[in-house]
Amino acid sequence: MMRPILPGATLGILGSGQLGRMFAISARRLGYRVHVLSPDTDTPTGQVADREVVSDYLDLDRVAEFAKGVSVVSFEFENVPAATTEACLRYCPVRPAGSVLYTSQNRLREKTFLRDAGLPVTPFTAVKSESELVAALGRQGNTGVLKTADWGYDGKGQVVIRSQAEAAAAWTKLNVPQAILESFIDFHSELSVVAARGLDGQFVSYGPIGNTHRHHILDVSICPARVATNVATDAVAITRAVLEKMDVVGVLCVEFFLTKSGSLLINETAPRPHNSGHLTIDAHLTCQFEQQVRAICGLPLGSNEVRGPSAMANLLGDVWEGGTPDWPAALQHPKLKLHLYGKQEARIGRKMGHLTVLADSVDAAESTARTARDALKSR
Ligand code: AMP
Repeated sequence: MMRPILPGATLGILGSGQLGRMFAISARRLGYRVHVLSPDTDTPTGQVADREVVSDYLDLDRVAEFAKGVSVVSFEFENVPAATTEACLRYCPVRPAGSVLYTSQNRLREKTFLRDAGLPVTPFTAVKSESELVAALGRQGNTGVLKTADWGYDGKGQVVIRSQAEAAAAWTKLNVPQAILESFIDFHSELSVVAARGLDGQFVSYGPIGNTHRHHILDVSICPARVATNVATDAVAITRAVLEKMDVVGVLCVEFFLTKSGSLLINETAPRPHNSGHLTIDAHLTCQFEQQVRAICGLPLGSNEVRGPSAMANLLGDVWEGGTPDWPAALQHPKLKLHLYGKQEARIGRKMGHLTVLADSVDAAESTARTARDALKSR
């Protein structure tokens, strides 16, 4: 058994957004120091880290210097180049491993891996040209969702196709050498399970969490999701299989479609804490970010005991459109917790923060979260 990395040590995080920020807050509460590397300054993570290293991910000398100064490296987004994690690995462990990142940063590799592992994924076909797209569309009733294989998130790099006639425009719009055509799933709902796995294989999960999106971006999450017990049990079992088959040490989220006939299909995985898991900070005894710290340090994972039904509403830049949001109006709800990420510029669609509400039921939590968010704009 490898020796754990104990409080007092320095943890490295690649990427400096809100996920790194909440990781750093959890790490510092546990007495660790945190160094962050990204190309940006005054970042959400840098504001709370001990050290903010400003470097391109492919400046491998600087990356190596960074890795020499920390006991372990993790990442907060999946598009970190493989060369960066390999450069780190010469000096310290990278958790989850670069191989997990490699699999999940390309939709085609990810879906192929999951399908070959016997796990249920949205039906898909790899397409490399317009003629391959037309042929694949024909095989699935002339509708589908065309997505870039690389660099896709929050609906970026994807086009819904409703007829053969839309194929050419969709191919031109994506403008990539490799894409993936998925069947369009007319789902009942979207769910996620966030889970942590320790160095010794210990497994702890949250959810399923019920998610609703607006313009392809997560809008509101509720926990527990409104699903039957057998669906919840299956979602956790599938998630456990994903973490085990990928040999994840750290946190990974599995996003699912629940079809109208009650089947679960994996939409995608993210090998890091997830937006839908933000409610664990206030609604669970140990949150997803503390689990990330514990897992990458080789410590025992914490309890996922639930404090109560909860709902999380994202605060996008849109909330700032009419001026400074009316924070007191939202904070008048005694069981509401406000989280802001320290971003200076509130652009439309940019994730600026979130609020979480605990209540006696998910219905009440969701309704208060939505009302409180609306109240922010009412000045
Ligand atoms: P993604 O970036 O793949 O997570 O997609 C963002 C959102 O687009 C998902 O959460 C769904 O709401 C929608 N979406 C993605 N793929 C599909 C699909 N194959 N069928 C129906 N809706 C989809």
